[in-house]
Amino acid sequence: MIHRTPLDKWILSKMSKTLPSANLSQSELEYYQLGKLKETIDYAKSRSPFYKGYLKHFTRDGLTCLEDMRRLPLTNSEHVEGRAPEFLCVSQSEVQRIVTLRNLQSSQGTRRIYFTASDIEQTTDFFHHGMSTLVEPGQRVLILMPGDRPDTVGDLLVKALERMDVEGIVYGFVMDPADAVQKIKRQEIDAVVGVPTNTLSVARHEDSASIGRGRIKTVLLSSDYVSPAIIREFERIWGCRVFNHYGSTEMGFGGGVECQAFSGYHMREADMFFEIVDPNSGELLEPGELGEVVFTTFGRQAMPLIRYRTGDLSKILSGPCPCGSPLTRLDRVRGRIPDFVRLGQNHWLGVPDLDDALFCVDKLIDYQASLICRNNQPQLDIIVDTGSSHKRQILERIRQSLTQTVALKNAIEEGAVSIGSVSFGVVRKPESSSFKRKIVDLWNLSG
Ligand SMILES: [Zn+2]
Repeated sequence: MIHRTPLDKWILSKMSKTLPSANLSQSELEYYQLGKLKETIDYAKSRSPFYKGYLKHFTRDGLTCLEDMRRLPLTNSEHVEGRAPEFLCVSQSEVQRIVTLRNLQSSQGTRRIYFTASDIEQTTDFFHHGMSTLVEPGQRVLILMPGDRPDTVGDLLVKALERMDVEGIVYGFVMDPADAVQKIKRQEIDAVVGVPTNTLSVARHEDSASIGRGRIKTVLLSSDYVSPAIIREFERIWGCRVFNHYGSTEMGFGGGVECQAFSGYHMREADMFFEIVDPNSGELLEPGELGEVVFTTFGRQAMPLIRYRTGDLSKILSGPCPCGSPLTRLDRVRGRIPDFVRLGQNHWLGVPDLDDALFCVDKLIDYQASLICRNNQPQLDIIVDTGSSHKRQILERIRQSLTQTVALKNAIEEGAVSIGSVSFGVVRKPESSSFKRKIVDLWNLSG
């Protein structure tokens, strides 16, 4: 039996504070959100030097429906980098926590995100209700994230779990998987929260079999992308259910969490408004269209964010969830936009898609993918590194696997791309340890 997401009740209780007779429906939620958006705009414009200038042509009267939000300019991490103090809407003394994020791609360097005690309470409240999707009173949760300092993610999770009579135990990132396995056994852990590959290092450790299938009932993975192969691995080794959480520091650490139907994230919609925009043009997209996740915060005191671009690729899922919720959901995030290339108007191909399609082929060590222009048509060329094994069947297997990948199959059928050459070669990586695989895009550049 699939339990309905606990977030529905929580969202309704928050809506009821301003709309006492509210019912939980998409239209009433939208009415509530419209009111909250107006409050956010008023608040930000009156208190933050950045928004005062940035939104000077926009007043709350310009907002008659949610669609009107498209008229507000988008914001992004570059606005925050170096200018964070201009976003601040409270005095420094009211700031309880500052998180500094480093951007490796930008010369600007760092961006600061500020939170008041009330902002932090909003997050703890979300963690409390979100976690009740996957844990029950009396259980123990091992948190494989930092939590030694006040108001870090681990610390807030412990506080949130206490509210539902669940014991949260902070372990921190795993350096020694064998030690984490011992901890799980000794403390009789029921659920694990962590980031995907670090948590997988525990499940895949040779001692992990001694935990016994069924000991760990649920795992919550928090990340902007989780490969289906990683989820299957947890299910196989621990016999557990794997839930995804989606969030970022800018969202106040939490954004949304899957329900027991695993059909997209139920979002924190009483605290935030989510949109999907075209990553190139910034235009608002319809439900079902893939694009960049953009959010606006409600009631955030220190640093409200308005139409903030996340860089994450996803889409809105309309219609009721199999769990019974009537609200729209956000599809599982496909990854970070810089890791994707565009195929035609409606399709995106990313490193995660190719990893899923190619690493299941036996002998494959690495690959290099390029989208090139051939006879004025986009074609995908693949060079595969299979060590000393150069059998023709491998190339046929790769071609077949590529054409069956959902992301490519639809794009090929619609003529947005075709598979070009698939050949053997040695894939050279730069020396840098931060190297990430990338699809070389010579098509969109030439267009
Ligand atoms: Zn659901």
